Amino acid sequence: MKMAYRGPTMDQILSLCKRRGIIFQSSEIYNGIAGCFDYGPLGAEIKKNIKNAWWQDMVHRRENVVGLDCSVIMHPNVWKASGHVDGFSDPLVDCKVSKMRYRADQLYFAKVVVEGELIGYVSVLEGEQMQSIAENQAEDLKRKLSKRGALEDVILRPYTEASVEEYAQIPSPATGKPGSLTAPRAFNLMFHTHVGAIVDDSSLTYLRPETAQGMFVNFKNILNTYRLKLPFGIAQMGRSFRNEITPRNFTFRSREFEQMEMEFFIQDDADWKTWHRYWVDARFEWLKNIGLKEDLLGYDVHRPEKLAHYSRACTDITFHYPFGVQELEGIAARGNFDLKQHQNASGKNLEYFDEQRSRSYLPHVIEPAIGVDRLFLALLCSAYYEEIVDGETRSVLKFHPRIAPIKAAVLPLVKNRPELVELARSLHKKLSQKFYTQYDESGAIGRRYRRMDEIGTPYCITIDFRSLEDGTFTLRNRDSMEQKRFTESEISVFIEGCCE
Ligand code: ATP
Repeated sequence: MKMAYRGPTMDQILSLCKRRGIIFQSSEIYNGIAGCFDYGPLGAEIKKNIKNAWWQDMVHRRENVVGLDCSVIMHPNVWKASGHVDGFSDPLVDCKVSKMRYRADQLYFAKVVVEGELIGYVSVLEGEQMQSIAENQAEDLKRKLSKRGALEDVILRPYTEASVEEYAQIPSPATGKPGSLTAPRAFNLMFHTHVGAIVDDSSLTYLRPETAQGMFVNFKNILNTYRLKLPFGIAQMGRSFRNEITPRNFTFRSREFEQMEMEFFIQDDADWKTWHRYWVDARFEWLKNIGLKEDLLGYDVHRPEKLAHYSRACTDITFHYPFGVQELEGIAARGNFDLKQHQNASGKNLEYFDEQRSRSYLPHVIEPAIGVDRLFLALLCSAYYEEIVDGETRSVLKFHPRIAPIKAAVLPLVKNRPELVELARSLHKKLSQKFYTQYDESGAIGRRYRRMDEIGTPYCITIDFRSLEDGTFTLRNRDSMEQKRFTESEISVFIEGCCE
């Protein structure tokens, strides 16, 4: 049964990001560049916190995982061996009139049939409402052609399944008229660049479309320099670039984005299904623990016919974004495909010597891979609440303290009492040595609480007249809005504990 969506709308998220300078369109003063985004001061903090949490839990808190940080530009043969040069493409369809371009697998069409007679076609772009939009279009067409009788079911299919004869009859979503859409063709998503002063085919290479290949090409370097025994993982986070045909849904599908990926190497005859299950469960738990709403999370187990030829299994962890249920993280069982490809192409032996079993082999791999920007958006959607408090709307981001950009705000009750201000400033200075705090003295205290709620600050520390007497401060909890008194050291230990 399809669950009704119970998160914020995209407009609410966009307006918050704009109002509080969390995310900007890249190069906005030049009208922006599609598929690229800039994270403002708060956004940069949240992003850093997401990456730190992942690194801490995937690398530091695991005995058998090490980190890696590879260059974005790699030898072009890496991408030939990995299959990206030949196969990393999406089906592209052009509208010859409007010059718009679409991904053929995201463009849907349907026959419009009235009592057995085919009267034309409709087309829609992929989206939650596409069925009802297509049905309305079919009704319009029937009315326009003055056809009588019952409209048959409108059955949507992706443009990739259209026949050659149908290409000319399917209307372009841009013009609403048929005759301008081309046949789909493969469009490689890698950004090209040239290395060195000479720009020709010999200097051609690519910006990496994923971080994963860095782990495979460094497999032997790491084996030779660390005393690792299978099973073990190599993890990396960093920028990836894909020239997406239709970047959309805000940061969800960008052209420049960040990934956090881990290659977990296992014995060639290990029970890969158990390891795959282990990582699917571990990643789901982690996503829940850092604040994703469980009722918005789900799974998409790829059907065998959808898998790449080398892939044994792939399960996506999905998230119900305001624009629909989409892949957030993929967990793939990739066999030994990548190591084998690089071994063959480079001529270097990439085998692992298993001392216990006295034999060498290419390990197999399980890969959990997630995009930082997609996770950021999912966290925003999970944390966003609007509540009525004392007859007013309170907008609040209920981030996990690990993710919250500012951990605590230090607020003197009033700003015209120098002794309160002095105490508050000195507390702020001390606490900011341990975690990110912000000092704020402007406006009524209630308004300051609301400003902090809106950006997800979990704690507000207020310095009042009693603080001058007994050295205690009130600590206000963002979610319950309860206030309790604590000493400075109690507050410090408490907040540090919550942010771990
Ligand atoms: P999709 O099918 O949505 O294009 P994918 O299956 O190609 O994604 P992977 O190659 O498995 O994605 O990449 C791993 C992760 O990187 C994805 O689960 C996603 O979180 C993130 N990612 C991939 N492409 C983008 C993009 N264009 N913008 C933002 N994040 C992305």
